[in-house]
Amino acid sequence: MYTGSCLCGCVELTIKGGANGGIQDIIHCHCSLCRKNSGTAYATNGFVNTDAFVITKGRESLSTFSFKPGRYRHFCQHCGSPIYSSNDDDPSRIRIRLGILDSDIQERPISHNFMTSKANWDDLDAELPRNDEFERGRVKSK
Ligand SMILES: [Zn+2]
Ligand SMILES: [Zn+2]
Repeated sequence: MYTGSCLCGCVELTIKGGANGGIQDIIHCHCSLCRKNSGTAYATNGFVNTDAFVITKGRESLSTFSFKPGRYRHFCQHCGSPIYSSNDDDPSRIRIRLGILDSDIQERPISHNFMTSKANWDDLDAELPRNDEFERGRVKSK
């Protein structure tokens, strides 16, 4: 079983393991919608069977945004964290952004998608230094 939560902690969720559980088809999506919604270079998304996904706390804190008819993004109305997306065309699955998970997971991403929409400042192969925390010399603001 995996657990996840929003930034403010109002909303908590679990994803069951087993045959019908876990996370499928994890991809890094560079499309402009994912970039805007996440505010980052790309979003890492995966599908979860609706039966395996349980909001264990804070369902009343969820708000919904519909960008296209029948498609809904459910997010914490207090902190804005994306919790899951649903699609009326496929009610058997929901989609999550993997950053909300608190658990280590066994599954791994399988591809980078919508590379034609990739931000021009996002260079996946850049030989930039890898830091465990902030970069050297950052002035920390409190
Ligand atoms: Zn929250
Ligand atoms: Zn996308």
